[in-house]
Amino acid sequence: MKTETVYESYGPEDTFALGEKLGREGVPGQFCTLTGDLGVGKTVLTQGIAKGLGIEEPVNSPTFTIVQVYESGRIPLYHLDVYRIGDPSEMEEIGCEEYFYGEGLCIVEWADLIEELLPEQRTEIMIEKDLEKGFDYRRITIKEVGLS
Ligand code: ADP
Ligand code: MG
Repeated sequence: MKTETVYESYGPEDTFALGEKLGREGVPGQFCTLTGDLGVGKTVLTQGIAKGLGIEEPVNSPTFTIVQVYESGRIPLYHLDVYRIGDPSEMEEIGCEEYFYGEGLCIVEWADLIEELLPEQRTEIMIEKDLEKGFDYRRITIKEVGLS
């Protein structure tokens, strides 16, 4: 089954608000991929998810640390940014399975770089610009994949 929903965002507040909704609806063990170019709003969306989960701490892209765990919300948030992963074997070193198949909501920025390691059952979130619709416009597509 593949269900796909498209959202239109006209600024960071819209993207944040969509994230907040996803965070409120998030369930334990949920795995989300987050793809889109640099500066498209992946971290903004994740900050909204954190808010929706009830996390008050600041959330930033864990580009250099790869993973950041937040335990202060309704369920844990595992926020990964794999942009700087050189080789998928580095993911095993950080113990990624603990996050991919853990108790919390896991979201992976740049998930397409480690495609072969990812759980097949997942929420795929893709953010794209469309400059014809303005500099701040983003099309956000969310697909539930692998659910039977
Ligand atoms: P990424 O994590 O994808 O590299 P960030 O979330 O760090 O990107 O940054 C997105 C940037 O784009 C922010 O500076 C944000 O203010 C800006 N921006 C402009 N329009 C939007 C939008 N519609 N949604 C999200 N961010 C937007
Ligand atoms: Mg980011």
